[in-house]
Amino acid sequence: MYPNPNLSADRPTFVTHLECSLTGERYEADQLHGLSRAGRPLLVRYDLDAAGRALTREALEARPTDLWRWRELLPVRRTESIVSLGEIETPLVPIPASAGGGDVLVKDEGRLPTGSFKARGLVMAVAMAKELGSTRIAMPTNGNAGAALAAYASRVGIETIVFCPEDTPEINVREIAMQGARVWRVNGLIDECGAIVGRGAADGRWFDFSTLKEPYRIEGKKTMGLELAAQLDWKLPDAIFYPTGGGTGLIGMWKAFDELERLGWIGAKRPRMYAVQAAGCAPIVKAYEAGEEHAERWEGAHTIAAGIRVPKAVGDFLILRAVRESGGRALAVTDEEIEAAVGDCAKRDGLLMCPEGGATLAAYRRARGQGLVSEGDRCVLFNCATGLKYPMPAADGWLDKGGVIDLAAL
Ligand SMILES: *Cc1c(COP(=O)(O)O)cnc(C)c1O
Repeated sequence: MYPNPNLSADRPTFVTHLECSLTGERYEADQLHGLSRAGRPLLVRYDLDAAGRALTREALEARPTDLWRWRELLPVRRTESIVSLGEIETPLVPIPASAGGGDVLVKDEGRLPTGSFKARGLVMAVAMAKELGSTRIAMPTNGNAGAALAAYASRVGIETIVFCPEDTPEINVREIAMQGARVWRVNGLIDECGAIVGRGAADGRWFDFSTLKEPYRIEGKKTMGLELAAQLDWKLPDAIFYPTGGGTGLIGMWKAFDELERLGWIGAKRPRMYAVQAAGCAPIVKAYEAGEEHAERWEGAHTIAAGIRVPKAVGDFLILRAVRESGGRALAVTDEEIEAAVGDCAKRDGLLMCPEGGATLAAYRRARGQGLVSEGDRCVLFNCATGLKYPMPAADGWLDKGGVIDLAAL
């Protein structure tokens, strides 16, 4: 719908305060915040009783289905702060062939602006940065977050400086530059890029937009959980497979389900949350298996699934808590399994996933094999970026138009 009323209508907002995810300490809303004093992520809290009185499910269902329909459950106060490049409700695509007949739906986040679900987090964080007056932002990225930040920040006139590990795919580095950021390749991993961002932030040069180091990306990613509930007629699936790097989406969805229950829109049942990592970088899996509450840095991280190559996550305990409370698990899959899953899904179901999305299909297959999920379980896999941004195997068939072409052999 154009013009879209979700972007232009003034709507009431219900943020009451922010809260340290570790200690519960309270922080004022409507001020710029990074991490809490305990060095942990801040969570945004709402007056959900009042929100529930202001917004009925019927009113919500009458709105266009994009991300901004959830305004009463989002932190942005002023309608003028909203920024948008068309954050559509992403489709749920069944993949019967590659899922071996299971009831598996892929939530295809590759259709979002800048080709990944990083758009959900960054559209919200940038809108809040605009609302709270930031003029310069820096972040470390494996590619997709930097692209989303660059796009939204450029659109609202905020300056951005982005640091990527030097082996970040060329297309990501170029799209970040093309969308107006100053981008630097660094001979280190994402947390080492993050250390440079932290130094500049301590110097007062820019605001630190590292994963979970500002409070609003979780709120944007939370819309995956809200949207999923609405798309499935307020009946959550049995299991969710989430490719876990910093874990923003998993933490955000877990928060969304809580808020929906407080609104009375869903019941107490939760999906089993499966945090999927690559065998070459699996700190959360290691901590899960050891029964730890926090994860240690993973040394020598390597995987083709760059988006989940995160050796150390500040929200580790929040990921582990959600996984355990849900009765799910943390699962690691190899790059070979990822490649096989991406190939099968593309060739048999016609859906080209990114490697991280492929990791969720590989993990689903393992989980089926181990009896953790059964054929009848409704499972949702997150394909977080378009497969078009990633290297594909060569296709080098060639014909001489003037020569003899054996049509039967084509
Ligand atoms: C960032 C990213 C992830 C990991 O997301 P988190 O919420 O940070 O764990 C997974 N896949 C892709 C394609 C990504 O860009």
